[in-house]
Amino acid sequence: AKRVGGSGWRAYDPSSALRRARSRLLEAEMRGALEQGQFFLLYQPQVALKSGRLVGAEALLRWQHPTLGMISPAEFIGIAETNGFICDLGQFMFKEACKAATSWPAHVSVAVNISPVQFLRGDLLADLRAALAVSGLAPHRLHVEITESMFLEKSEELFEKLNALRDLGVTIALDDFGTGYSSLSYISSLPLDKLKIDQSFIRDMVSDPAAQTIVQSITTLAHGLGLTLVCEGVENALQCEMLTALRCEEGQGYFFGRPQPARQILALSAAHSLL
Ligand code: C2E
Ligand code: CA
Ligand code: CA
Ligand code: CA
Repeated sequence: AKRVGGSGWRAYDPSSALRRARSRLLEAEMRGALEQGQFFLLYQPQVALKSGRLVGAEALLRWQHPTLGMISPAEFIGIAETNGFICDLGQFMFKEACKAATSWPAHVSVAVNISPVQFLRGDLLADLRAALAVSGLAPHRLHVEITESMFLEKSEELFEKLNALRDLGVTIALDDFGTGYSSLSYISSLPLDKLKIDQSFIRDMVSDPAAQTIVQSITTLAHGLGLTLVCEGVENALQCEMLTALRCEEGQGYFFGRPQPARQILALSAAHSLL
């Protein structure tokens, strides 16, 4: 047994020991993996619900390890946040994503995820600026997805960083909206362009009237604040119809397309409608 921070004693847990061993292994491997080109990006289509046209794609990191196989970002992002490696990963993925978007038509944007650690530590602004400069991508075509967890601390520094992001000319989206703790009045004081409603609400919407009411309220909120509403996790036609009826602008999810290589996004951009 091990002493647990003042709260008492806990029995040895083999599953958590395994998890720790795996996490140490991934941590030891990640730097070399980046150098060896094991990380790459896939892009998931974002669609205008009214027209069915492709309007953008979200860049999602993948780690293809030679012996461990495909490792989910859900597993390695957390580790990379803890050891600071997320900043190196960020530099890589901003450059990749901007480069990919320059091969797409000008009406198609690319969205990158920014973790809270990346936002507060590291040289986020310099990294984004460098990626834009090297690629020549128009800044408004780069969408940065931030999350509510960044606002747990309502610091002056946070506001300054957000405003600096805004000055860079990139588009700012609040990701996973509805799962965090931010107050509505606080949201209205941030320099945002888009709200991405969390996929859990979309998943439950068809069967759960409460989830439907929440989606409806968030739509009203977004429009009242002049923000574009994006719904993620759209998996079927019924969800798509309900969201269109609620006048949600954009959708993302397996119904429109899985995360895929950049050149397939180019092919989709030529389609008249993805509906
Ligand atoms: P997220 O930003 O909320 O990304 C959406 C996740 O939902 C993606 O999982 C995507 O593949 C998945 N998804 C998309 N459509 C559907 C759908 O219709 N149904 C269901 N069930 N799932 C759907 P993924 O790629 O495994 O990424 C998981 C999380 O990892 C992301 O959540 C994001 O928080 C993080 N992540 C991924 N790439 C990056 C990155 O480059 N940087 C940072 N900081 N985080 C990243
Ligand atoms: Ca996201
Ligand atoms: Ca999300
Ligand atoms: Ca998420």
